Amino acid sequence: MQNPELSPESLVVSLGRPPHELDAPVNPSITMTSTYVGALTPGADERVYARFSNPTWDPFEEALGTLEKASSAALLYASGMAAIAAAFNLVPLGGTIVLPQTAYNGTLSLAQQKEKAGHFSVRIGPIADTDATVAMLDGADVLWIESPTNPMLEVADIAALASAAKERGILTIVDNTFATPLVQQPLTQGADVVVHSVTKFLSGHSDVILGAIVCADPEIRKRLHGERTLQGAIPGPFEAWLALRGLRTLSVRVEKAMATAGELARRLEGHPNLDSVRYPGLPSDPGFERARATMSGFGAVLGIYVKGGAEAAERFLQALQLWTPATSLGGVESLAERRRRHASEPDSVADNMVRLSVGIENVDDLWLDLDQALRASS
Ligand SMILES: *Cc1c(COP(=O)(O)O)cnc(C)c1O
Repeated sequence: MQNPELSPESLVVSLGRPPHELDAPVNPSITMTSTYVGALTPGADERVYARFSNPTWDPFEEALGTLEKASSAALLYASGMAAIAAAFNLVPLGGTIVLPQTAYNGTLSLAQQKEKAGHFSVRIGPIADTDATVAMLDGADVLWIESPTNPMLEVADIAALASAAKERGILTIVDNTFATPLVQQPLTQGADVVVHSVTKFLSGHSDVILGAIVCADPEIRKRLHGERTLQGAIPGPFEAWLALRGLRTLSVRVEKAMATAGELARRLEGHPNLDSVRYPGLPSDPGFERARATMSGFGAVLGIYVKGGAEAAERFLQALQLWTPATSLGGVESLAERRRRHASEPDSVADNMVRLSVGIENVDDLWLDLDQALRASS
């Protein structure tokens, strides 16, 4: 493995490469197989079958583990939701999980479904309000944090919450999809487990669905690894290979997208066709001070509230040319979506809110397109 003391922009490029040997390829290969030639001596360490392991997963899993400052490799899953479902298995049967009111709607929907089925109880609270969240912890088993949240961009005090959870013997799990390990490493702030939708910034090209889990405790990793093998929520080798290819440019993509997001947020604030803008990097944002203190950047997702309600927001989306009206985020191309077009999105998300995922195009081109489309929305 590479020296983990290297800076993240060197790590994303150098981790998970074959050794520097004559004629070795510089990139790992894709292994397309369902099974492996078996050991003829009993007790040998062997791969056996490709639901248990695939060498194509290893470089990405090792790289993500290192980036998240874990002592063990990450575990890849077929999707972010498969990773989240696997992490929910850490809540004991009949136990209690505390979740942010503004968590990703798939996370909330799955938790509510599991509550209905009697697997566990769910307490939903305001994650940006540390005192209120801590007050909900007594008797719980798992604290689920997402920060910044999708799509409301609320920023949690991960260190304070994880420490309050630890005092009570509660496991802290953080969905780090929005920040990426370049901007925050929850395990270093006391969290026990990190989950990712690798689909988003880590892969970065909107061509893969993939998830991952990183654990501080090797025993928890071992348990999740065993469950992944039996439940079969594994990635295809090509997806894992694409994710590693995307990870190589994580730092240039994310740095550029964050710089552009900050500039667009400043230009959008006070736009005559907007009611408001949310971006943790704006000094006026409720999450600004906390994000500045605990993150090394502010992410590349904005929330804009279009003047004139849902219809004006839809007219804005129809008028966009460079930005693509589509769900998802974290790719090189800029995307815009009115989240409430989904019936499953909770009412706590305003119906005129459009989530902007900032890509790596030219900032002025992005700005001019937003400005003309906002003017067309009224
Ligand atoms: C997209 C997303 C997920 C779900 O990931 P999939 O890869 O779509 O299954 C989970 N959490 C957050 C914060 C997300 O943005």
